[in-house]
Formats: sequence, structure tokens, C-alpha cells
Amino acid sequence: MKKTAEMEKLHQMLKSDRFVAGGFLGSDERFFLDIIDDDIAELSRINITAAELAQRMQQITEAAIKGLGTWVKVDEKTEAKVDEAKGGLVCPWPHRAGLFAKRVTTVKRLDTGQTIFYSDLNIHFISEHSFFEGKGSSFRLEPRRLVEMIF
Ligand SMILES: [Zn+2]
Repeated sequence: MKKTAEMEKLHQMLKSDRFVAGGFLGSDERFFLDIIDDDIAELSRINITAAELAQRMQQITEAAIKGLGTWVKVDEKTEAKVDEAKGGLVCPWPHRAGLFAKRVTTVKRLDTGQTIFYSDLNIHFISEHSFFEGKGSSFRLEPRRLVEMIF
């Protein structure tokens, strides 16, 4: 794929500390579009779409919000809670309405006790950009593990 100046600019923004400490790419050396392509390929192997995944994440977050920071039972095998901080996070992609609450949802599987967490910005990244962040970034989500944890 030919890299345009706009793509290169967005890559540098995702890599920078400007939006979050450590950037969205972490220690990942791949160009951001290659990260996206690899994760989309992984999703198709699991037979799920980014939209389905984001929809389930949003559903869990909305259920958890009702707990105001305490654990909420989402279904028979899932509990979740939200933690909110002041301020917001901005999506680096050039589009409108790119400001998101600093809300983190922690999902716990009741059968294994394992947890995973994601932010509102993660949901947006996955739903709109099929972006799971770079490996080594604080909010990187491995598609396969995320699917195993929330479905
Ligand atoms: Zn965006």
C-alpha cells in the first residue's frame, strides 16, 4: 500500500505521547495500517467483525455504568464495572465528535476469574477504525483474547 502524507501524519500522531502516555502504538514497529490489517485478518479467522465486537463492548459498558463503580452482573458468566476519571480522550483520526470520556470498563469472567479492561476510546477505535492499538501500548487489546473474554 502506498503511504500518503496524511497516513504518515496520522501514524506519527498515534505513535506520539500527545494523546496518551506511551502513545497508541506502544513498542509496535509496524505501520498502523499494517497493525489494522493483521488484526482484521485475525478477526476473520475467529469469524467475528469489529462491529460485532464493539457492539458487545458497548453493551457491557452500558450495563456496568449502572453500578456507579461497583461490579454489575451482565449475564450468567460476566461481571463488569466502570472507573471514570475527569477529562476526555481525543481520537487522533481526522473526524468530528472525536472526544471520549475517560471511562475504563473492567470485565470479569465468573467461570475463570480472569479480567480484561478497555476504554470508551478502545470501543470507538474498534468500531470506527478496526484499530486495537499497537503491541506494548497500555490499552492494546488482542482480538482473540478479547473475544474469549466478552462472549
Ligand atoms: Zn476516530
